[in-house]
Amino acid sequence: MGRPRILILGGTSEARLLAEALAVRDDCDVLLSLAGRTEKPAAQPVPVRIGGFGGAAALADFLEIGEYGLLIDATHPFAERISANAAIAAETASIPAIALRRPEWQRQPGDRWQEVKSILAAIAALGPSPRRVFLATGRQGAHHAESAPQHYYLIRSVDPVEPRLVLANVDYVLDRGPFTLERECTLLKQHHIDVIIAKNSGGAAIYAKIEAARLLGIEVMMVVRASAPAVTVVETVEAALVAIDHLFSPAMKRGV
Ligand code: NAP
Repeated sequence: MGRPRILILGGTSEARLLAEALAVRDDCDVLLSLAGRTEKPAAQPVPVRIGGFGGAAALADFLEIGEYGLLIDATHPFAERISANAAIAAETASIPAIALRRPEWQRQPGDRWQEVKSILAAIAALGPSPRRVFLATGRQGAHHAESAPQHYYLIRSVDPVEPRLVLANVDYVLDRGPFTLERECTLLKQHHIDVIIAKNSGGAAIYAKIEAARLLGIEVMMVVRASAPAVTVVETVEAALVAIDHLFSPAMKRGV
């Protein structure tokens, strides 16, 4: 029997870090799959394939044809379709699956959060009076801002929002985390922001905006995660490595 093959569904820094940790080992082969959303994806330490599979059944075929022994869903916590597909595909292909998910941020004393179910709900909750909004949820979903054009929007994304939004009062900033507290405070003050719309993505790289909001007393419309993955969840790269070692341990391979 050859070395176990692992398919990692990526698009997050955790996926890259896990791939990095597995790349130096000689006991498994890893392929990293990216959706192909970003124009200039970060360099990756293992072979990469790019683009959708064509749904859960096609992903299951991909796993079977490629003789993968493990599927790791290390996609973003808000990438819900691919995570649902991953769980179905692993079951169809009869292979184990693990989801690597950073824990959600927890409300701290001083946080002024209003939890909402979606970006659209967050925008509706802004109310009728004009506000100065930092839309920090990336370019996907930014078009919802058009439903409440009375507000000013500062929209930050890795790639440009195209087409530009039909809004009179909008600024775009292109940037990729990690962000520092100092820079986030400067940005919020510069644009006189009084409310932030953020996804509860978790992790340290983009947490500074939440800390900055707390420090400056700014309200946050926090978009909550819809559902937990339907497979075993680990929260850190280290925990994923332990789970992989367990799955591929000699005893497990013998079915003990
Ligand atoms: P999504 O709605 O769950 O996925 C839409 C479709 O994109 C999937 O059905 C799948 O197409 C394809 N896809 C997604 N991730 C893939 C992957 N790693 N490899 C191959 N195909 C993939 O996801 P999304 O919200 O558009 O996010 C796309 C990617 O960006 C994800 O990989 C995610 O990790 C990353 N990302 C998302 C966010 C966010 O806030 N949503 C933030 C940062 C990074 P098929 O059905 O054709 O297979």
